[in-house]
Amino acid sequence: MSVLIFVDHSEGHIKKASFEALTYGAKIAEQTGTTAEALVLGTVSDDLAALGKYGVKKVHQVNNESLNHLDAQVYAKVIAEAATASGATVVVISHTQTGKAIAGRVAVRLKAGLVAGACALPDTSNGFVVKKTVFSGKAFANVSISSPVKVISLNPNSYTTIAGEGTAEVSQLSIAVDAPKVKVTAVNKVSGEIPLTEAEIVVSGGRGLKGPENWGILLDLAKELGAATACSRPVGDAHWRPHHEHVGQTGVQVAPNLYIAIGISGAIQHLAGVNRSKIIVVINKDPEAPFFKAADYGIVGDAFEVVPKLTEEIKKM
Ligand code: FAD
Repeated sequence: MSVLIFVDHSEGHIKKASFEALTYGAKIAEQTGTTAEALVLGTVSDDLAALGKYGVKKVHQVNNESLNHLDAQVYAKVIAEAATASGATVVVISHTQTGKAIAGRVAVRLKAGLVAGACALPDTSNGFVVKKTVFSGKAFANVSISSPVKVISLNPNSYTTIAGEGTAEVSQLSIAVDAPKVKVTAVNKVSGEIPLTEAEIVVSGGRGLKGPENWGILLDLAKELGAATACSRPVGDAHWRPHHEHVGQTGVQVAPNLYIAIGISGAIQHLAGVNRSKIIVVINKDPEAPFFKAADYGIVGDAFEVVPKLTEEIKKM
């Protein structure tokens, strides 16, 4: 019996959320007296044996070129077959865009109960109960799964990665891979930017910045902090910033360690995409701005005065 952890990668490099999933899955294996095993699809340049540091004993790879780009149906079939082959009773997948596309499909194939968006280890003292976020992170639910096989998708940034010692045994799994129905013909990279969903720090701007010509103060701060940049929806809609930077209910959902919101009111639709951030700092000239209720630290002031001063102070550090 095993806990199988799906390891996602981008251009051969394992994604941050997958290290969290590995640590989380290894802990479940420890709780349930099983072994933790990882599953990698496609070609990876990172050292797979080194995943042993996160507590997995084995790494299974299905090294097939057609798995280098996501096709949710193809991935789900391969993951489900790998889970069956490795005798997995729990399958762990990160609740990322990729994970959201595949977790449900994997669960259907395995006739497994699914907890999507888990935020804590299962309580196995009386059954198998997993805590998850609901209502865009505004509340928690404890979900009990009774099926023999269970699928859990883990919210990024909700479980701390722990790297220790050890190497894993790497083996190739022979699983027939269906021809993908989706063909990726080109990948257009936004060069020099830190991917929003992977970033530890996000600096985000709203309509309070008045126009695209004023974004320099935000970019300077982001550069000093090594942060990714984001924006509210109206900013994306007005083309002040690229559309892919828009965070919120209808945009990208982020969960960095630090989210700095500048000139953003904090509408519920915006909060839905950022409220899993560990620390939220709000800079807004209106003391009544709703965002302050969700903030860990707030600065009431004019962004055009506060942000350059903040950047100067950070430069001195
Ligand atoms: P505003 O609401 O105009 O707020 C600007 C803020 O800047 C104000 O609080 C103001 O006090 C402050 N400010 C002004 N000048 C300064 C200054 N000089 N210094 C400091 N602060 C200043 N929005 C999203 O962001 N993401 C979504 O995914 C999203 N999805 C939506 C889905 C639906 C179905 C709907 C109906 C709406 C959605 N919205 C979304 C829009 C959302 O409701 C808000 O309208 C939007 O988030 C407001 O953006 P904002 O805070 O940048 O602008």
